[in-house]
Amino acid sequence: MNIRLDVHTHTIASGHAFSSLQEMVHAAAEKGLEILGITEHAPGIPGSCDPIYFRNLHVVPRQMYGVELMLGAELNILDYKGNIDLSEFYWKKMDLRIAGIHSLCYTPGSQEQNTAAMMGAIRHPYVQIISHPGDGTADLLFEPIVQAAKEAHTLLEINNSSLNPVRHKEKARANNLELLRLCKQYEMPVILGSDAHISFAIADYSYIYELLQEADFPEALILNDKPALFKQSLKQPPI
Ligand SMILES: [Zn+2]
Ligand SMILES: [Zn+2]
Repeated sequence: MNIRLDVHTHTIASGHAFSSLQEMVHAAAEKGLEILGITEHAPGIPGSCDPIYFRNLHVVPRQMYGVELMLGAELNILDYKGNIDLSEFYWKKMDLRIAGIHSLCYTPGSQEQNTAAMMGAIRHPYVQIISHPGDGTADLLFEPIVQAAKEAHTLLEINNSSLNPVRHKEKARANNLELLRLCKQYEMPVILGSDAHISFAIADYSYIYELLQEADFPEALILNDKPALFKQSLKQPPI
């Protein structure tokens, strides 16, 4: 696979990441990427940027060092209805909106409640990608999630960082494998995300490749080497 894009990364603005925006774009250019997405944590994560950061995204050039830059946020799924943080005023200012369950902003409920939460976010008109649905933070039923994602044109991410043994996410491997098998069955494209918190980790999908092999996952359903198809597959928000 000739990887051309990574759309889930964080800079120092997220508070617990270590590279500047320019360092990130430089690294993406050196790795030959066409598109880099920078998705800072929304304010629910302690130490992340204030809402004013997202209001000011317009000052940043979207082409830098030969890389197309997409700026947005990784929003937090807050409740069992799938409500997300910030507000329409801010969502509209972004090129890209991903949303995920984070233990700091979400109280895990029953499997049904968690699944309803994620399906609410999947159907949210502004949410284009669900981050790390397989990380095991909340117990989920994956088949209705894959079906809802396909119907709503919301992409599901296979997240490299949650497979890193240092994160001790014991269910991540089995969950992501199940997600891949279901996406294959339903012919649903997936997006690989590095979730890089430092420039060196951009487009690092090293923990995912083994799972792709084990699931015998079709290369045609992976968007990271197909920038045009990725853009086509991205749900258009009501802006
Ligand atoms: Zn996350
Ligand atoms: Zn992230």
